[in-house]
Amino acid sequence: METLVKSRVNLLINNQEVLTQNYFEVRDPGKLNEVIGEVALGTSEDVNNAVKAAHSAFLSWKNVSVQERVRLVLSAAKVLEDSMSELKHLLVKEHGGVLWEAETDFYLGNGVLNYYASVAESYMKSEQIEDKTSWISIEKVPKGVVGAIVPWNMPIILTMMKLAPALVTGNTIVIKPSPTAPIALSILLKNMARVLPDGVINVIHGDAEVGSALTQHPLVKKIAFTGGTETGKAVATNAANSFKSVTLELGGNDPAIILDDVKVENIIPKLLKGVYTRSGQICFAVKRIYVQENMLDKFYNTFCEFVDEYKVGHGLDQEASFGPLNNKKQYEFVNNLIEKEKQSGATIRKLGKKLDPDGWKDGYYILPHVVKDVTQSSSIVSCEQFGPVIPIIPYKTVDGVIKMANDSEYGLGSSVWSSDVDNALKVARQVEAGSTFINTHSFDSLSLGMPFGGVKNSGIGRELGDELTLSAYVNYHSIRYLK
Ligand code: NAD
Repeated sequence: METLVKSRVNLLINNQEVLTQNYFEVRDPGKLNEVIGEVALGTSEDVNNAVKAAHSAFLSWKNVSVQERVRLVLSAAKVLEDSMSELKHLLVKEHGGVLWEAETDFYLGNGVLNYYASVAESYMKSEQIEDKTSWISIEKVPKGVVGAIVPWNMPIILTMMKLAPALVTGNTIVIKPSPTAPIALSILLKNMARVLPDGVINVIHGDAEVGSALTQHPLVKKIAFTGGTETGKAVATNAANSFKSVTLELGGNDPAIILDDVKVENIIPKLLKGVYTRSGQICFAVKRIYVQENMLDKFYNTFCEFVDEYKVGHGLDQEASFGPLNNKKQYEFVNNLIEKEKQSGATIRKLGKKLDPDGWKDGYYILPHVVKDVTQSSSIVSCEQFGPVIPIIPYKTVDGVIKMANDSEYGLGSSVWSSDVDNALKVARQVEAGSTFINTHSFDSLSLGMPFGGVKNSGIGRELGDELTLSAYVNYHSIRYLK
């Protein structure tokens, strides 16, 4: 395993590191006695300083040509690419994922920067309309300072999904990483900020208090938030006081609908990628599996056979299929959920293997669990578990399973699995969700050009894709004169 030097991370304001009075520790969720680093705890005064620096930078950055902004964002993308080998182990040690998951976070983050660099110039072009009576110009102008608040599960890509569209359209940004995975991201952002004018990228640290100060600051004109649904409500409420525009990427409870014409052995390996990757801590992970009742036994037995092959251990252990949960709150929540289902009479199988049984209690490790004999109203079906435990629920008819899939407060991702794509498409069109994937439901299902986001309590607005996302970072300015 890699040995790492303990990091000390400060705030980043106007390309200067700012020290604070208090620092908080970040521990390895797979080795709780190991402190990875210390991070400067910001105050609302620090937030104010960061926003003022971002605003001052905005006054020049907005006038930089889009071609030059794209060139600089591409330089920042190169920094990200070059930083991966140095930072990926650190990311594993603070967020608990395995190495390929950390690498995916960097690769996707790099892809996002390059994607927005490639579409910005065409999007930012103004449109002129002339007729006998008038001349109209429809122009796009940046909003100003963007406040970006991100969670711990995939910190690199989730930050780049905000930073890239914000910067290419001429905004500046203040980023608040999650307190349980802030270090690799902050080192990366500090390096990226160096290739941009001072104040274009700023980073503050803390939890609800600091996040709340950012969402309330009058000079912040847009909030791009990814996190839990309850936090999203607080963010939207705070942002409403100053009419900030918000993009909210919130929780999910994605259904996977398995139609009865599938070959079970063929689909399960693909389906599993969407269930246990990142220990189930992905917003669009498969969180409920619906199986036609006639094939339930075969599906359940085959599924459990595959899951039993999993090995759970530290993210830097090359044998680990997945790592620990990221933090105590999540660990306790998932364990309580499993206990509750046991007591309610559900059948629960604990599967897989512990890679380091002696060190098991020193981390937030949970083996993969498969749950059956649950109903639509069981907690494990209705809530977002965000952990390595999955319910399998039987259904009778296709109309019935569509109702069950839609019977949720969430609507982020979803999937339909069938040998008949036309049939799958008919079902997919009836699912209430931001995205529905056919015969896939994992990182492989994403496309940078495809808008991603939720309906219902899964959020407002979209990230990824071009026009829809970029339009959330600009104001349309219409100019017309009558001849
Ligand atoms: P969280 O809501 O606890 O925290 C997210 C961020 O918000 C953190 O940086 C946190 O410090 C900050 N925060 C907390 N209180 C705040 C407040 N009052 N005002 C402003 N900011 C505040 O979420 P988490 O536990 O870090 O992440 C897990 C959740 O994120 C899950 O529900 C998951 O589904 C969701 N998520 C959604 C997406 C998506 O794209 N839809 C992607 C990843 C994660």
